[in-house]
Amino acid sequence: MKVLIPMTAALVTLSLLINPTNSNANASMGGAQILNDNTASANSQNPFDSQRELYDKLSSVTNVEWYWVAAVDQYERTMSRARPKARPLLGETVGVFIDKELWAGILNPDDEDNSPLSIRWFNGIGRDGDGNGIAERNSDFDLLYSLIRHTSLKGTTDEHFPIGLWDYYQNSRSVQRIEQFAAIYKHYGQLNLFEHAFPLPIGNNYSYKDTWGDKRGWGGRRTHEGTDIFAGYGTPVRSTCYGIIEIKGWNKFGGWRIGIRDLNNHYHYYAHLQGFDKTIKVGDIVEPGQVVGWVGSSGYGKPGTSGKFPPHLHYGIYSDRGLLEWAFDPYPMLRRWEQGDYRKLRSK
Ligand SMILES: [Zn+2]
Repeated sequence: MKVLIPMTAALVTLSLLINPTNSNANASMGGAQILNDNTASANSQNPFDSQRELYDKLSSVTNVEWYWVAAVDQYERTMSRARPKARPLLGETVGVFIDKELWAGILNPDDEDNSPLSIRWFNGIGRDGDGNGIAERNSDFDLLYSLIRHTSLKGTTDEHFPIGLWDYYQNSRSVQRIEQFAAIYKHYGQLNLFEHAFPLPIGNNYSYKDTWGDKRGWGGRRTHEGTDIFAGYGTPVRSTCYGIIEIKGWNKFGGWRIGIRDLNNHYHYYAHLQGFDKTIKVGDIVEPGQVVGWVGSSGYGKPGTSGKFPPHLHYGIYSDRGLLEWAFDPYPMLRRWEQGDYRKLRSK
């Protein structure tokens, strides 16, 4: 109790200073949700700023570093985007979804309960974060505060916070994703990390067309989950996003391949490489346009097999739905990133 009394007082003061009413706070943060995806543009500075403000406030009341707060929120957002029917948006800008029973407590007869006292009595995780006396399941602050408070029960350090994440999500993929997101946010110290680049330097000789779903021969009947970009041996292959290296090495289908995870929870897969940038290893942070390897024709056999088809980059994108991943056609995005790179080149 010694800790709780000054803590509550601090929360009330804080809420008076920065969060006069809940609806005001929500209005000021509107837009971050929409801009925080692939289409984020250069002038999306304000939503990112107000988002960061929210994370910093939550960090100061929970003692959890802002990049963990940001990573949890962003992970939750990607899950809600992948399954919008199961996880409807509850707040204005945060991506957190907590179902009613978990919020109010499983044995709570009132599953809409917003009284902090009775929610605690029934072991619900809903809390009043902004100090207005109500634990609101549709308030950005209360939602994210409740989740961070709950997941930080095992500790707030970089070593201990993931233990609480494991307890909450009960699955190592979720913990890995949040750790990856946190590493990216921590590395750059900012939230605005949704820019993209075309995987090959534009202006080089390359060609590609929409090859989504084409049949392919080797290794049984598989449909083509990606776009083939044909280019000469040794053409640089670049990261298309801000992300973290998740996989690097040999695969009998993809040859020398590299997998990069971005903050949209997309897995960018680059296959048939001639080789990698030797300084890059799993867990490293990369940015759009950064060279990670070179075009080759590796694959379709044991490690080192090469030359069974013309050199090209096989580029695929997979979206994480929580327990499984599914591929989607990268062609429209490739076109967009290519045009974006041309625009950047012209403006220089
Ligand atoms: Zn391919």
